[in-house]
Amino acid sequence: MKVADNLRQVQSLIEDACERSGRHSEDVTIIAVTKYVSAERAQEAVDSGITHLAENRKEGLLEKLAFIHDDRVTWHLIGTLQTRKVKDIVGKVDYFHALDRLKLANELNKRMKKGTLNCFVEMNISGEESKHGITEEKLDSFIDALAEFEHLRIVGLMTMAPNTEDRDVIRHVFHRLRILRDRIRDRNIDYAPCTELSMGMSHDYEIAVEEGATFVRIGTSLVGNE
Ligand SMILES: *Cc1c(COP(=O)(O)O)cnc(C)c1O
Repeated sequence: MKVADNLRQVQSLIEDACERSGRHSEDVTIIAVTKYVSAERAQEAVDSGITHLAENRKEGLLEKLAFIHDDRVTWHLIGTLQTRKVKDIVGKVDYFHALDRLKLANELNKRMKKGTLNCFVEMNISGEESKHGITEEKLDSFIDALAEFEHLRIVGLMTMAPNTEDRDVIRHVFHRLRILRDRIRDRNIDYAPCTELSMGMSHDYEIAVEEGATFVRIGTSLVGNE
């Protein structure tokens, strides 16, 4: 399938989800997750009009960056990052979606030197042991602790729903993330405006949009997975 055809399909389902929930589709940014596909396929996504690209690993990000030279592209790193790899990506990504520990925040801040990196705090809402992200109880103190990192700007919260067919469980996770986002946003913290919600992947982005997602991260349904 051409990316352009997939994109039309995804856009139309997002529009429907927006209609159902009284939202505007301009408020939902589609990020194409290119981690399974070639740089050529990522380029096809850009040529189809997608301007937000994401990778979950440093290596994939650098590969796509080297191939796609295009100022219109906003780059997202959506997977966890080892502290020692921070130096390889700072200055290259526009958004980092997996901030979940102070040691990582410290290293990102140190390496940034100037400007600000837009970060999402990754939350583990479902409480699954295997998942990255911080738990709800720790969110406020984590946000407080980020105050000392002048080069990090906390633009929102991110989560991954559990891998389940139970749509109600998925919806509950997205709903909780929105409540937590509102709570931090309403604290009016200058370094943590927290207006954004990064949630929704190929199998659950319609639910995420209904629950308020402002960034959806879509791989398989948009560019494929092989
Ligand atoms: C791979 C990945 C996605 C996209 O997954 P699809 O199911 O292929 O849409 C979204 N978010 C994160 C964090 C990922 O690692």
